[in-house]
Amino acid sequence: MKKKITVALAGNPNAGKTTIFNALTGARQHVGNWPGVTVEKKEGTLKHNGREIHIVDLPGTYSLTAFSLEEIIARNFIVDSAPDLVVNVVDASNLERNLYLSVQLMEMGCKLVLAFNMIDVARGRGIAIDEAHFSNLIGVPIIPTNGKKGAGLESLLEAIVSEVDKPQPSEDLTRLTYGSEVEDELLKIQNLLLQSGFSSEGINTRWVSAKLIEGDTEIVKKIGSLEHRPKILEQVAKSRSHLTNIFGDSPEIVLADARYGFISGAIKQTVQIERTDRVNLSESIDKILTNRLLGPLILLLVLYCVYIFTFNGSAPLVKYFDSFFSWLGDIVSKILPEGLLKSLIVSGMIKGVGGVLGFTPLIAFMFFAIAILEDTGYMARIAFMLDRVLRGFGLHGASMLALMVAGGIAGGCAVPGIMATRTMKEPKERLVTILVAPLMNCGAKLPVYALLIGAFFPGDRASIMFLLTIISWIMVLLAGRAIRSTVLSGPSAPFVLELPPYRVPTFQGLVIHTWERTWMYLKKAGTVILAVSILIWVLMTFPGPSPEQKAFFEEKQDKLTSNFLNDPAVGLVLKNQQDLKSFEDLQSAEGKDSLQIAAPLASKYTQYKEDKLRLENDEQSLKLKNTVAGRIGTYLVWVFKPIGFDWKTNVALLGGFAAKEVVVSTLGTAYSMGSVEREQYPSLSEQLKHEPGWNPLMAFTLIMFVMLYAPCVVTLVVIKRETGKWRWMLFAMVYTTVLAYFVAFIVKTTGTLLGIGLT
Ligand code: GDP
Ligand code: MG
Repeated sequence: MKKKITVALAGNPNAGKTTIFNALTGARQHVGNWPGVTVEKKEGTLKHNGREIHIVDLPGTYSLTAFSLEEIIARNFIVDSAPDLVVNVVDASNLERNLYLSVQLMEMGCKLVLAFNMIDVARGRGIAIDEAHFSNLIGVPIIPTNGKKGAGLESLLEAIVSEVDKPQPSEDLTRLTYGSEVEDELLKIQNLLLQSGFSSEGINTRWVSAKLIEGDTEIVKKIGSLEHRPKILEQVAKSRSHLTNIFGDSPEIVLADARYGFISGAIKQTVQIERTDRVNLSESIDKILTNRLLGPLILLLVLYCVYIFTFNGSAPLVKYFDSFFSWLGDIVSKILPEGLLKSLIVSGMIKGVGGVLGFTPLIAFMFFAIAILEDTGYMARIAFMLDRVLRGFGLHGASMLALMVAGGIAGGCAVPGIMATRTMKEPKERLVTILVAPLMNCGAKLPVYALLIGAFFPGDRASIMFLLTIISWIMVLLAGRAIRSTVLSGPSAPFVLELPPYRVPTFQGLVIHTWERTWMYLKKAGTVILAVSILIWVLMTFPGPSPEQKAFFEEKQDKLTSNFLNDPAVGLVLKNQQDLKSFEDLQSAEGKDSLQIAAPLASKYTQYKEDKLRLENDEQSLKLKNTVAGRIGTYLVWVFKPIGFDWKTNVALLGGFAAKEVVVSTLGTAYSMGSVEREQYPSLSEQLKHEPGWNPLMAFTLIMFVMLYAPCVVTLVVIKRETGKWRWMLFAMVYTTVLAYFVAFIVKTTGTLLGIGLT
């Protein structure tokens, strides 16, 4: 415990510093000059509970830049003389302007107590401040005072002593963040400073880095003797021009905006103003955009526009990418001979990589839309309006955007949804959002729904889709709540929902934002996905049918052909295999409609072709059953027995792991339908309707399972990359599947007991 405490008084001119200084020290004061300059310096001492407190009244300043002598004096005193604590006297009737200095003091990392002075004036003007909440948000004690009456001074002294006695926190507790771009640059400079051994001088390196980025000449002088000085200055110049490019404004303005955003956010959360004196432009815009009635409506409209822009806007490009990859697949198919290599390259590699690259336009469009929301300042308002509702479910106001994009409006995609959480600064809320986003109805689940709805609920398409949208939202919120109160329990760090001033974004800034984030996606997802898609291909291809099975099908095939050729109506025209082959080539060359042959032959040939196709499909189905995936599917039958899935459904679900829409094509193969393209859903639907064991209840059970079970591989890879941990990726995979099983079980059991959907 220190016996002698040094405290510096800082504050804007006329905040009441001298008044408080006089009230505290009384006659025990000394007036002199600051060394070398004719600025008055007042010092004094007092005793409190046996401790001696030495107080220095700093010159009044609005900021801590290096623009005026007063600012430099105040700053240097804090840095060089390292007082035990700074008391920032704030004019509580003019918080917005006064707190700008407070935020800078917080950044300097010194121990701080805020005296909300002129509290009588503030209250008189109808300003009600929730000091406890405010203090909790910014992490600094706040004591309301009235300097003229001497009220609150005792509490101020208590706060000073108790703060000084607290151990210095080991980590930087700054609550103010400048957004990812600035933070990245800060970190680079900070690392260089630490390498130069700057930390030993006892100044907060984060603050120094921020000052360097702001081009503060005094600080540049201060690092004069450092070993890596040229390297640091080079990085500073690079960071400054990078930020100028992105924001189209000087870094000084960008950082100042972040500070003002922090302040407005904190004030909006904790201060009620009955009568405002000063209404600036941002405030009047906010009057409309965050209005109680209009605000949510505008919000919904904006979110809907982002959604339309992301998915419809990118559609032509996505189509272009798609057709490029199917073109590539076709070319390679033509060049390579039939066999494993071709299958590997076309089905394994081109499909897998195409899957990732195919998302690129979507991701770019989404990030462009998000960049507009962020750079204008509207993003902060979205978070602000939705925070109260979503926080109840362990999420954050900013989660909304990610969830909508992930499929909150059916048809989205979890990959850009998870990428959208990058705008969130609160680690726990961000993680929960990432973990629940895959439960939404992404575009790849829709074909599966369409197939099953088409087969079993043909008249109720719209209402079932609406129901599924509602169910997925409920699941997301419940899962969020559950995760937040179990694996991610504990209070979230209080945070200020920042409200930066509105500004007009620059086009260059938007483009750079978009490009940087999209590139990050390609770099991060692209590398892993190739390996994973090859792995899935292997699982769904090997070991393949046994020689006996092959022989069995060959024999059946031969028998079919010889029966056909031996038919009298056929034998007249086609005498042997050779003839049949050239006849088939001719048919396929001329297309299906030009079958200009004798009627009896034509009908026999059509029959023959159908039989042959059926045989081939049976063979494909058996082949699939014999692969690793097929065996796992068969093995899983006993696990899935309670929810009634057969091996064919199981193997389709395994395939859906590669991409959810694969569930449909794999079901097609497993049910001996051959390859199922989009236009062939009706036939697969027909088929499923007549399969034993399939009924509306079964279909709905499967729909629920597909909605909830393990995210697709691309999503998992992105989860791993965004959270940085395999653990979270595994968790996402396991908890969703358990949830899917549980929900499917409830649906199945309830349906069976109540006799719903059994026919
Ligand atoms: P400084 O520039 O920060 O040193 O501010 P001063 O201490 O000189 O105070 C400026 C003016 O505000 C003086 O007229 C004080 O009497 C007045 N003042 C200081 N504190 C309070 C307060 O809590 N309530 C009211 N109503 N006036 C105050
Ligand atoms: Mg004064």
